[in-house]
Amino acid sequence: MTGIDASPQQLDPAEAFALLMDGNRRFVAGEPLHPNQDAERRASLAPVQHPFAVLFGCSDSRLAAEIIFDRGLGDLFVVRTAGHVVDSAALGSIEYGPAVLGCRLVVVLGHDSCGAVAAATDAVDRGTQPPGFIRDLVERVTPSVLAARAAGLADGQDTIDTHIRLTVDHLLERSRVLADEVDAGRAAVVGLSYRLADGRARIVTARGPIGELDSENAA
Ligand SMILES: [Zn+2]
Repeated sequence: MTGIDASPQQLDPAEAFALLMDGNRRFVAGEPLHPNQDAERRASLAPVQHPFAVLFGCSDSRLAAEIIFDRGLGDLFVVRTAGHVVDSAALGSIEYGPAVLGCRLVVVLGHDSCGAVAAATDAVDRGTQPPGFIRDLVERVTPSVLAARAAGLADGQDTIDTHIRLTVDHLLERSRVLADEVDAGRAAVVGLSYRLADGRARIVTARGPIGELDSENAA
């Protein structure tokens, strides 16, 4: 069930995660198959969608979801905000995947050199305040920077990983829909850290049944 032509709506969380990571491996290797991007797929999806995962990621232009996971139309229900900060609109969009579309996997995707995390770090260190609503974004990342510091993690990548882990925790604390699905073993929420230079997505945290963690990935 993890092949390119799998019927995504029938995938359990572990199968969905395997399908996603298979695509990332193809992208990293420079051997993408560009599945589900043709006219036939487009036509077959017109009446209904059955994406196999919700991808909640940073808006960074280098994190184009279907490209870095080598997927196509109808595969991923994508929600993105700068720094993957969570507000009620993001929560509702994420819940739509498992509650309405039957997605059994939710992925939080952060990355190195994240501008939102850098801005929050600057705000903590130097008191800089960005203009307009960007300030609201930065304030939502700041608790992750402070948590990393409190844990003695000064490294930039450690701060990124902390923000990814806390975003997963935050989703499960705020969303009863998601927490119930995970508690019942019907869905999983996984935090992934993406490296811009080589395109690789690495597991930071996982809640729910995603099977054996790929040791190569669980760095
Ligand atoms: Zn970012």
